[in-house]
Amino acid sequence: MKYSTRALLVGDAPPLSELTGIRLGGKPVAEIVLRDKTEVEQLPDLVAELGGLPAVLGKGSNIIAADEDLPLVLIRQEIREKVSFERHGVEVRAKAPAGLPLPALLNAAAAGGLGGLEGLAGIPGSVGGAVAMNAGSFGTEVGALLRSLTVFSPRLGLREIRADAEQAGTAATEFSYRRARCLGLPFGSPAPDAGEFPVLLLEAVFALSESSSASVRSRMRAVLAEKRLRQPVGAASAGCVFKNPAPDAPAGRLLEEAGMKGKTLGGMRFSSLHAGFLVNEGGGSCAAALELIETAVEAVKRHSGFTLEKEVCLWVRQ
Ligand SMILES: Cc1cc2nc3c(=O)[nH]c(=O)nc-3n(C[C@H](O)[C@H](O)[C@H](O)COP(=O)(O)OP(=O)(O)OC[C@H]3O[C@@H](n4cnc5c(N)ncnc54)[C@H](O)[C@@H]3O)c2cc1C
Repeated sequence: MKYSTRALLVGDAPPLSELTGIRLGGKPVAEIVLRDKTEVEQLPDLVAELGGLPAVLGKGSNIIAADEDLPLVLIRQEIREKVSFERHGVEVRAKAPAGLPLPALLNAAAAGGLGGLEGLAGIPGSVGGAVAMNAGSFGTEVGALLRSLTVFSPRLGLREIRADAEQAGTAATEFSYRRARCLGLPFGSPAPDAGEFPVLLLEAVFALSESSSASVRSRMRAVLAEKRLRQPVGAASAGCVFKNPAPDAPAGRLLEEAGMKGKTLGGMRFSSLHAGFLVNEGGGSCAAALELIETAVEAVKRHSGFTLEKEVCLWVRQ
């Protein structure tokens, strides 16, 4: 531990292989753990003092990081606040801290008999990661449910923004397929050009609708059951590596048709259950993962003509 205040803990960071779902990645320069938002404005100076690029980590379920030491200062959140609910006309709004596990938000909504999030059942990660990635499944996307966000960046300051507002002609939030931006700035990941401090999400407010606990839970169970049948849910992975290039051309199917299902290299394997998931079978490396990803892109291009785009966040030197 380097030092701590009431709101911040600054210390050595464990390697990303201990913090990511796919169990890959070297050691960052340091980490800053945020315990409440009162001192968030100190982050830019602290990161500069520690000497790395700021990189926000949620639960690490969508990140593949380089094997070597990384020039990053991780920013993580361990904020103890819980989900709070407030009625707003016909909708009920759920406010959740960004560091909360997404499944905990779904369970709190289900306990309160509130519907809207059920399609997201089985997505690991945090509320912050779900917003930053515009996570979605079974027809539900996070961006469509958001009402407001509390964010911080040196340029924006600490502020609450309405999800549908505009500022100087720029939409406050833009959600596209597995990507999100806030007032034109990227969330979380170190920018490829390393120029801009990324936007840190601190809280998100979701619009839910009244239902019953029984029906919300039953829909969640159905979604989970479907996923357990088709996806390697318990394996060390970063979820689907590639975006679906078209609604009728899912990446998993294209990979399977191109012969990538079950393909292995150096401890990494395209899952035999769902070819879109790259799994670390133990002893895998980022180098092997990247090589397999490259091979897959070429194989799909050759076989079907589609150019696959990555869905996962790559924390590697470009
Ligand atoms: C088995 C499995 C199944 C999955 N299924 C799905 C699925 O059905 N649908 C889907 O969309 N995804 C799926 N994923 C991918 C992943 O779980 C989601 O993208 C998830 O929302 C990422 O959350 P996280 O907290 O782990 O984010 P991380 O992986 O830690 O980070 C992802 C990105 O979000 C940024 N970020 C994280 N927290 C914040 C914050 N507070 N402020 C700003 N930026 C932040 C990071 O900087 C990074 O750019 C799956 C993954 C696995 C392993």
